[in-house]
Amino acid sequence: MEEYGMYIDGKWVPSVEGGVFETKNPTNGEVLATFPAGTKEDVLRAIDAAEKAFPAWKKVPPPRRGEILLRAAQIMRQRKEELGTLISKEMGKVLSEGKGEVQEGIDFFEYIAGEGRRLLGETTPSELPNKFCMTVRQPVGVAGCITPWNFPISIPCWKLGAALISGDTIVFKPASITPLCAAKLVEILIEAGVPAGVINFVTGSGSVVGREIAENPRVRVVSFTGGVPTGIDIYSRAAKLLKPVHLELGGKNPQIVMDDANIDLAVDGVLFGAFGTAGQRCTATSRLIIHKNVYDEVMDKLLARVKAMKMGNPTDPKIDIGPVSSDDQEKKILEYIQIGLNEGAKLICGGKKVTGGEFDKGYFIEPTIFEAVQGMRITKEEIFGPVLAVMKANDFEDAVRQANDVDYGLSSSIYTKNINLAFRAIDELEAGITYINAPTIGAEIQLPFGGIKNTGNGGREAGTTAIEEFTEIKTVFIDYSDKLQKAQIDR
Ligand code: NAP
Repeated sequence: MEEYGMYIDGKWVPSVEGGVFETKNPTNGEVLATFPAGTKEDVLRAIDAAEKAFPAWKKVPPPRRGEILLRAAQIMRQRKEELGTLISKEMGKVLSEGKGEVQEGIDFFEYIAGEGRRLLGETTPSELPNKFCMTVRQPVGVAGCITPWNFPISIPCWKLGAALISGDTIVFKPASITPLCAAKLVEILIEAGVPAGVINFVTGSGSVVGREIAENPRVRVVSFTGGVPTGIDIYSRAAKLLKPVHLELGGKNPQIVMDDANIDLAVDGVLFGAFGTAGQRCTATSRLIIHKNVYDEVMDKLLARVKAMKMGNPTDPKIDIGPVSSDDQEKKILEYIQIGLNEGAKLICGGKKVTGGEFDKGYFIEPTIFEAVQGMRITKEEIFGPVLAVMKANDFEDAVRQANDVDYGLSSSIYTKNINLAFRAIDELEAGITYINAPTIGAEIQLPFGGIKNTGNGGREAGTTAIEEFTEIKTVFIDYSDKLQKAQIDR
C-alpha cells in the first residue's frame, strides 16, 4: 500500500491537520493507498503557491509549455499498460477501457501541445487610418480543476493540459474515490518538467477542499466535471464573486434504432454504450428507443448478447463488465432498480447485486434492462450504472420526442440508413453530441465535448474550444498615426 501526500509548491506534503483517507479497489476492497484529508488551510497553501508561480509560468512561451506536455505524453505511452491497469483497479472499468482512457490522455496532451503554437487571436481592419487592431489570448491566473472518478486520468488530462498550455497555474482536486490515478498523472507532469507551484494537488473531500476552490476569490476560474447538484453548488458560490465556472455535468443519453437500421450494428452499439464502464460514463446509453417494427428483433438479439456478458475482475482481459466504483454508487443504482420496479417498468434481465465467492468483496450489479414508458423516473434521471430503459416508438417523430423528453442534453445516437432521417436527427435531437450509426460513447479529443440543458452551462472542453475556459481575450489597438484619432467621431 502506498502512502501519498499532497503536492504543493513543488513538494509532497501531509495535510496540516494530519488526517488521511484510503482509496480502495472496488473489485475486492483491497486498500491501494492513503491520501491526506485536505483542509481549507491546505487549499490556501496551494493557492499561495499557484499565485506565486503564475508570473513566471505566464512568461514561458506557449510552444515551450507544449514541449512539457509532449514529454508527459511520451511517459504515459511508455507506462500505458501500468496506468491502464491502475485505472482498472482503482475505478473498476475493464482493462481495455482503462488503457483506452490512458490513450485519450496521451492524444489530448499531444493535440493541445500543438495549440501552444497557435493560441489564435484575430486581426481586423481599423475604421481609422494608420491604426492596427487585434486580439490576443492571455492566461486567467490560478485555475481550480475539480474532477470525477469515472475517468480518473483522461478528464484531469483535459483540464490540466488545457490550463497548462494556456499559461494558468493550477489547484487540482481529484475525486476521493480515485486519487491514486490522479497522483500518478501529477508525478508524470512533474517528471516531464512542470515547474514547482504550477500544479498543486490537494486531496480531500468535496465539501471542504472543493468548496474552498469554488469560494476563494484568488482562484480565478473553476473547471468542474461531476454531478448536477455539485455543479449548481459550485456555480452559485462562484457567482457571488463573478468567477467564471465551466461545468460538465450529467446525461440521460438515448440511442434510437429505426426500422431500416443495421440491427446487429445497433445491438453492438447499445451493448457498448449501455454496459461499457458498467454504465458509469456521462455519455452512457441509458435509454434505447426502438421503432415498433423492429422492437422484438432488437430485444431478442440484445438479450442474448447481455446474457453472454462475463462479469468479474476487470483486470482480467476476458471480462466484459467489472464492478461499479463504490458502495455509495452501488446503493444508488440498486435504489433506482427498485424505483423502476415500483413504477411498473418490466424487468427483462438483471436487477440484482451479484453475490457469492469473489463477488462478495466487491460492488457488482448485473447488467439490467427494463421495458419502460418514457416519463418514468428511470427514463428521466441519471442512474450512472449498468441499467438500460427501453422504449418503443411509433415513428421517427415519436422517437425524437421521447429522446428529447429529459432535462439533460449530452450525447445522442440514431441508427438508420435513411440520410434524410439522419440529418433531421442532427437538427432535432437536443444534445451537444449526436452520433449517426455509432453508440452514444466514443468522443474524440480534437472535437468539442459538452452538452446543453442541465448538462452544462454552455462551454465545451477538448477540440479548438479547450482553451476558451482557461484564457481571457484581450483586444489591442495600436495607433501609429502620431495624432489623436477618435473612433466614431472622426468621420
Ligand atoms: P460529484 O459527486 O459531483 O463529484 C465530482 C467532484 O466534485 C469530486 O471531486 C467531488 O469530491 C467534488 N465535490 C463534491 N462536492 C463538492 C462541493 N460541494 N464543492 C466542490 N466540489 C465538490 O460527481 P461524481 O459522482 O464524482 O461523478 C459522477 C457525475 O459526473 C455524473 O453525474 C456524471 O454524469 C458526471 N460526469 C460528467 C462528465 C461530462 O463531461 N459531462 C464526465 C464525467 C462524469 P469528492 O470525490 O471528494 O466527493
